[in-house]
Amino acid sequence: MAGKKGAKWRSLKPWAPSPEAEGARQNYLLFARRQERRLWSKAKRSETGCLDWQGRLDKDGYGKFMISLPRLIKNKQEQCAMRAHRLAYELTHGPIPSGLLVLHSCDNPRCVEPSHLTAGTQLQNRRDAVARGRVPAGEKHSQAKLTEEQAREVIRLRQEGADVKEIAAAFGIATVTVYQVGRNIWRHIA
Ligand SMILES: [Zn+2]
Repeated sequence: MAGKKGAKWRSLKPWAPSPEAEGARQNYLLFARRQERRLWSKAKRSETGCLDWQGRLDKDGYGKFMISLPRLIKNKQEQCAMRAHRLAYELTHGPIPSGLLVLHSCDNPRCVEPSHLTAGTQLQNRRDAVARGRVPAGEKHSQAKLTEEQAREVIRLRQEGADVKEIAAAFGIATVTVYQVGRNIWRHIA
């Protein structure tokens, strides 16, 4: 495992783009390419054909690949991390198209097998999750039953121009609820 215990590290968040973050990401990828062997050595083939990440996992169960990057300004090392499956995708399939997620066809978040990884939208991800029974669907539950995170997702999908009916189906909510989200109680998080 890279880094000392308790060492500070930075997560490279693709959903918070900024020139500074993009610079750090490019720097990270440059170093990651040089450490590619270390990446693959941290994964183990399972009986199901998945390549399971054996290193550190984040709170959502995704593998985390830590790299110490030299900091150009303060001349210090900085620990940066990217999700292992996203990195595996970048190294084998090329850059992740802007704004897209890397989805698992095997539904196994710790898997880094490149043939199990595809780039897709948040909406596809939701649809897959519902189809595989990972999240409850079918019930037209009320607005109050959406979590704050889900409401944020709905708002973002609408801003991206996604079809209201498709969003409703993906979240298992009524179309009217999709319209309501972002208006009333969710306004403060939009
Ligand atoms: Zn897999």
